[in-house]
Amino acid sequence: MTESILDIRNISKSFGALKASDNVSLDLRAGEIHALIGPNGAGKSTLIKQIAGNMAPDQGSVWFDGQDVTTLDTVARARAGLGRTFQISSLAMDYSVLQNVVLGALGARGKVFGFLRPAMKDAGLLESANSALRQVELEAFAHDRTSDLSHGQRRQLEVAVALTMSPKAFLMDEPMAGLGAEGSHRMIGFLDSLRHQVPILLVEHDMDAVFALADRISVLVYGAVIATGNADEIRNNADVRSAYLGEEDLA
Ligand code: ADP
Ligand code: MG
Repeated sequence: MTESILDIRNISKSFGALKASDNVSLDLRAGEIHALIGPNGAGKSTLIKQIAGNMAPDQGSVWFDGQDVTTLDTVARARAGLGRTFQISSLAMDYSVLQNVVLGALGARGKVFGFLRPAMKDAGLLESANSALRQVELEAFAHDRTSDLSHGQRRQLEVAVALTMSPKAFLMDEPMAGLGAEGSHRMIGFLDSLRHQVPILLVEHDMDAVFALADRISVLVYGAVIATGNADEIRNNADVRSAYLGEEDLA
């Protein structure tokens, strides 16, 4: 059996009478993109919050890199190597692209925000920041203002910032949202190569992206996983077709 880096075991979470997570189990393995799809309100974001540590499950556990992290907060989970991206607001728009990554690398070392100027002369920090920029192919933009980047490039920059934490897995909640056709296309290419370095649990509405990228897909309906499988298995699953995907989505 392939080893899981992230293992969600029998997670349940209710809001009053509403079961937002209903005994959910799924895992993420080395080298893969595992997509989590489902209609609005199915419980995708609620599940991601419980995995990241923003919300405690009523029942069940989250295992990461062989450790039970269920009671750890978001910071401790991030330190353990659980990467999360696309909180766009965390970028400093007036700073350069490189400065943003250096700030991330500082944070990863537990240093405070105030010491950016000396940090920009720290060879180790710069090397780590430049290497992260190379990985997301934003090297050529290192000295540009972050506000001058396109929406898609800012998302790649978020990934670069997250890479300075040396993540062992990524959680991504709708990375394609707000990107045009070309931006989505580039992001798909980017995530496709990133998976080999860091496996990704991907929540995404863009079905073309999901079916192009995902090694496995789990379908969430009313808080419960109704199917997990590869693209063909999900396309041809009768429960999935009737519960969620319209015929035209599957053509
Ligand atoms: P998705 O991300 O799949 O669209 P969510 O996880 O955001 O779904 O929501 C799942 C269900 O839980 C929805 O019915 C939503 O209204 C409800 N919900 C989410 N968060 C809360 C909360 N903090 N309090 C009460 N209900 C919530
Ligand atoms: Mg959501």
